[in-house]
Parts: sequence; structure tokens; C-alpha cells
Amino acid sequence: MAQPKLSLKEKYQLMTRGLDWETTYQPMDKVFPYDKYEGIKIKNWDKWEDPFRLTMEAYWKYQAEKERKLYAILDSFSQNNGQLNLSDARYMTAIKLWLQGITPLEYYAHRGFAHVGRQFRGAGARVACQMQALDELRHAQTQMHAFSHYNKHFGGFHQANHLRDRAWYLSIPKSFFEDAMGAGPFEFVTSISFAFEYVLTNLLFMPFVSGAAYNGDIATTTFGFSAQSDESRHMTLGIEVVKFVLEQHEDNVPIMQRYIDKWFWRGYRLLALVGTMMDYMLPRKVMSWAEAWGIYWEENGFALFNDLSRYGIRMPKYHEVATKEKMHITHQAWSVFYTACPATGFHTWLPQPYEMDWLSDKYGETFDRFYRPRFELFGQMEKAGNRFFTNRLPLVCQTCQVPDFFTEVDNPMKQSVRHYQWKGMKFNFCSDGCKDIFVNEPEKFCQAYIPPQQIYQGNAGGARTLPEYAAWLRCPMGSEAGDYYSSDDYQNWLKWHGGKDTTPSTAAA
Ligand code: FE
Ligand code: ZN
Repeated sequence: MAQPKLSLKEKYQLMTRGLDWETTYQPMDKVFPYDKYEGIKIKNWDKWEDPFRLTMEAYWKYQAEKERKLYAILDSFSQNNGQLNLSDARYMTAIKLWLQGITPLEYYAHRGFAHVGRQFRGAGARVACQMQALDELRHAQTQMHAFSHYNKHFGGFHQANHLRDRAWYLSIPKSFFEDAMGAGPFEFVTSISFAFEYVLTNLLFMPFVSGAAYNGDIATTTFGFSAQSDESRHMTLGIEVVKFVLEQHEDNVPIMQRYIDKWFWRGYRLLALVGTMMDYMLPRKVMSWAEAWGIYWEENGFALFNDLSRYGIRMPKYHEVATKEKMHITHQAWSVFYTACPATGFHTWLPQPYEMDWLSDKYGETFDRFYRPRFELFGQMEKAGNRFFTNRLPLVCQTCQVPDFFTEVDNPMKQSVRHYQWKGMKFNFCSDGCKDIFVNEPEKFCQAYIPPQQIYQGNAGGARTLPEYAAWLRCPMGSEAGDYYSSDDYQNWLKWHGGKDTTPSTAAA
């Protein structure tokens, strides 16, 4: 007799249901040692709504099709010397930062989801995490492949792993993910699937992929589109996890609220790097960080938390601080990158006149009063042959690991620093948000590997000064680090364009 054809949903249920048997030779708590210690109570895993409803067979077919298209475009990009059609070689700084800072996070996500995929007793959750683990491995690989073409033509691309483990600015994304991976399985999915992917990912992905398109980077644009359908599955997982856990037991609400508070703030601090890319590294601009924050957080985020309020969840703590800071953080971050670029794996520059106007237009009086004068002073110093580089190591926040350059919310002339005494040690923070996170988990965060402290202790190859540290990073001025307009990248760019400087004169694509 012919078998009736099963619907995808039925197939999916057959694939996932009945796999979650009760073990008999060993107690369940020994088989699943991690999914209870956080205090999250799950009464019925069968209430889990499978967010993807995708069989492995369909998954492989679908992903393989996407790979074929992606690699066909990457091939033609490289055969046609697509790098020559970029808006301007300054754009490469954004891609270098992405490869050095974000691509490793994709790999961490792969490992993290593979780990928690083993730890949940619910089979639906296990399968969802397993698929996401595969997606994330693919994202790490496709990013490396999309960017690998640039390694033939620009500095900063050939030692991403070496930099990931050494560079001070990369400890920001690295510590973010290591914190998540060092947490329990429910905190991990709340941090990555919900806070990062559901709430904040639009602030990472949309500007980045549109930014690539605006600046002629077909390779990154294509990778971005190829990852986007995965991203929408991940976002579905993020919201499903949170609703499922909140519905299971009222005792879960305060635990989830603490995770949401913590990971909103950590994600927001990490995105300061992305905001800086949008405002300063893209020669052609998509939108400002302040505008993106307005759309993706103040509109979409508010609506989401409105929806979650029926579960007893309130807005993330300190979200008002983040919104007030939107006018400042990218200018502050770029100032630090501008002055500290000899100890990085990328180049920096002062905004061109058309960019200064664009920043004035987007940030109004805030920019003109607090940041334009600073850049103008730097500009005068450059003209006098005295380009300013910092020669000190900064104080770094113990939680987010961003150097302490943020200012008080209501006073942009005053540096924001918080301190906390714990077991006879003094710890420093960039904000109340970061201090709170430490106070909740001091045993974890007192162990943070803080680059400037490690340098002073001699743990950076014995480097004691910034030039020695740059040598340990293997980032010589000119080819890898330092000012853009005296870099090899810029010299090569001129050569390839018959001596013509292609710096745009307008922000529009
Ligand atoms: Fe990913
Ligand atoms: Zn911080």
C-alpha cells in the first residue's frame, strides 16, 4: 500500500518527537547536568513550538542551493577585480574590523549552539540549536571566503586569528561571546538568540549589508543576503525561547529579566563598534547610528517590550541611557580609534569635509559643539606634520572591555567611570550598566582578561609601550596600522586608479 505523503510539519514532528525518551540506566539529571542549575523551571518541554519546522533533508538542500549562488558570485567578483569598484579603500577598515571581530563570533556561536543543543532535555529545542550551530559555522566560513579576495590586495586581512587573541579592541567582542558561552544554557540562548539576534541584530546586519551595497562591495552584500534567511530563523528561535520559558513558570520571570537587562546592555556596548563603522568607516553613508537606533530600537524594540509586558517583563534596565547616548558614542569611539590606530590592524583618518557636513546634519549641535572642534584641532595638527597618536594605555571597563571613553549621560564633558571594591580589589567600569553586571557575578568578571593590565604585567610578549605592543600584534605602521593617507592601502589604491583619489565628495551612493 502506498504511504500517504507527509506534510513538512508532520515529517518534522516525526523527526523530533519521541527522541526525548527518559533515560533508565542513568538519572536524567546526570545526562542533562546543565539545564536546571540556573533555576529555570520547565514543566512541559512538549509545549515548545518548533520555530523552524525544517527537516534536515530540506535544510541541506536549501543551504546547498544558497552556497552555489554565493560562490558563483564570489568567483565572478574576484575574476573581475571587483575590489577596484569599491567607493574608496577607506571602506576596507569596516571589513577588516568585521573579519577580525565579528567572524570569530560566528564561530563562537557555532560552538555555543552545539554545546547547548546537547544540554536541553526538550528535543525541539535541541534540534533548533543544532541547526543554528550549523548555520553559524557556515556564516564563519562564508564570511572568510567572501573577504579572502581582499587579502590579496589590502593589509589587515592575513592574520585575523592572531589578532583576535591579542588585539585590545578585539577583546570587546571576544569577551562578549565568552561570557555567553560561559553561562548556563538558558542564559546562552537568551543572550545570543534573544538579546542579540532578536532585539539587536537589525542594528548589525541591516546597516552592514546596505553599507556594503552602497560602497560597491558585492562580495559582502551577497554573503549578507545569503545569511539573511538564516538570520530570520534565528530571530524566530530567540523570541520562541523567551516566550516558552516565561510561560513555563512564574519563577522564571525575574531570572529572564536579569538576563535581558544584562544582555541588552552588553549587546548595546558591543554595537558601539558597528555604529562607528556606520558613521565613520563607510565613505558612502546608509544612515547614522542615531537614526538606526531610533528605528530599530526606539520603534521596533519598544513595540516588542510592549508585547512582552503581559509576561511581566519590563524594558531592559538603562535603555534610556542607551537612547540618550546615541548622539555621542560613535564620535567618541572614532576619536579613540583615530588616535590609537598604530596599535590596531586597520587604518583611520579624519572625516573629509563632506563627512563633517553629513555628521553636522545628522547630529546637529551635539556634533558641532563637542566633536567638530576636536576633529578640526586634529586636522590642524596633521597639517603641521604632527598627526596626533596616543601613547598611553587606557583604563578599560572590567565588564564590556571598552576603553573608558564614554561620558556622563547628562554631561558630555565628563568621563563616565564607576568603581567597585570586591575582595580587596578595585574594579573600574564605563557605566552603571556594566557595574551592575559585575556586582551580580563578581566571581566571573573578576577573572576578565583586561589587555592593558596584561600588557603592564608583561604578558604581551614583554611589550611595555604601544610601539612594542604593535610589534607583538605584528601590525607595522603603513602596511597594517596607522593613518590611512600614509598607508600602503592608499598608495596602492592611487596606483590602481591612475593616481586619481576616488574619495567621494558626497555621502550619497
Ligand atoms: Fe550568524
Ligand atoms: Zn562597560
